[in-house]
Amino acid sequence: MAVQTRMAENFAKMQEFSADGKGITRLAFSDEDWQARTFIISLLKQAGLTIRIDDFGNIIGRRQGKNPAAPAVLCGSHIDSVPHGGNFDGVLGVLGAIEAVNLMNENNFKNYNPIDIVVFMCEESSRFGTATLGSKAACGKLTVRDMKQYKDTDNKSLYDILHSRGIEPDKRNKVIDLKNLKACIEMHIEQGKVLENIHKPIGIVTGIAAPTRIKLELRGKADHSGATPMTMRNDALCAAAEIILSVENIALTSLQPVVGTVGIANVSPNVMNVIPGEVELGIDIRSIYAQVKTNTVSTVKKAIEKISQKRKIQVSLHTLADEQPVTLDDYVINSIENVCREDNIAYNKMPSGAGHDMMHLAEHAPTGMIFIPCRDGISHNAAEWADMKDILRGTDVLYKTLCSLSAADSSIN
Ligand SMILES: [Zn+2]
Repeated sequence: MAVQTRMAENFAKMQEFSADGKGITRLAFSDEDWQARTFIISLLKQAGLTIRIDDFGNIIGRRQGKNPAAPAVLCGSHIDSVPHGGNFDGVLGVLGAIEAVNLMNENNFKNYNPIDIVVFMCEESSRFGTATLGSKAACGKLTVRDMKQYKDTDNKSLYDILHSRGIEPDKRNKVIDLKNLKACIEMHIEQGKVLENIHKPIGIVTGIAAPTRIKLELRGKADHSGATPMTMRNDALCAAAEIILSVENIALTSLQPVVGTVGIANVSPNVMNVIPGEVELGIDIRSIYAQVKTNTVSTVKKAIEKISQKRKIQVSLHTLADEQPVTLDDYVINSIENVCREDNIAYNKMPSGAGHDMMHLAEHAPTGMIFIPCRDGISHNAAEWADMKDILRGTDVLYKTLCSLSAADSSIN
């Protein structure tokens, strides 16, 4: 069967595993997710892979190498979705990886290093409020205690949900040997519009940005909007407005790549005739460079202090998350680049603004990512779309990169 037909069929099939409503709703460990998982396991088996399941339900399908003891090359992504998301986020990386193995089978490619195709469970934060849980678990960064604490909106713990699916996290059955990995690679839609704008079909990811997230509570005074003169106010929303613009300005004028967003603004009492007494802001600052992020956060904090003092507003600031950005590995980056050069494919080296499972693996092994364009940069939305020609090109680049990474004569140094 032609690659295109097979890929089109598999994407169409994955589209069926969704709760009702617009787009794809396939929350981690839901019935839809479980059905999709069963389908993916059948594809992995059809591709001749040996399936193992770890203590978080992550699926690992192995294509044995000429040297079974050699470090493995790991490749994959996730299949869960946000509510009303798209059919490409994560799914592309899983179907692409499986297709790469199909191509190896058809072309009779013999890998020296074992190749592990992985499907990480629960990548999206939609159900438990935290992202990349499967890869965290595989990398030993998620404890059973954490699993008991993480609850979904029905107040069911992640731990209980795992058990209800027959997964026993207490058994500590780690399938991915973190000490014996040669390289890790994931293909993903860009989830931004850079590739589309510059008309390049392949993105080679140089680093994965990580966020610092700050919750800011501003307290002024909620006075009558008619009876309080302009000079006698402590308007928390006006302070918030200045802070929002300063976050934008600090990120915009930074000489190094960083993005800053205020995505949450809750105003209290939020009525027309009362001066806003309290505002809660959610600030998200990201960079692929740890130092740039640290500097930006400290500049933002200084701006917050200055604005609140000037306006006599009380501030309490909580850092909700402060994660480490990840630099991806030159060896894997060069391997992808070589494939693109040989095939005359235009590519762009670029950071990933969104987090991915591979950022955890990057702490243990040389890791890289391939991006393909998605229409208008839209993702986490029913309008998410990737063209088949881009999917096929990305899959071919992934296939050739996997061949080169798992061939006997390739070495890290
Ligand atoms: Zn994803």
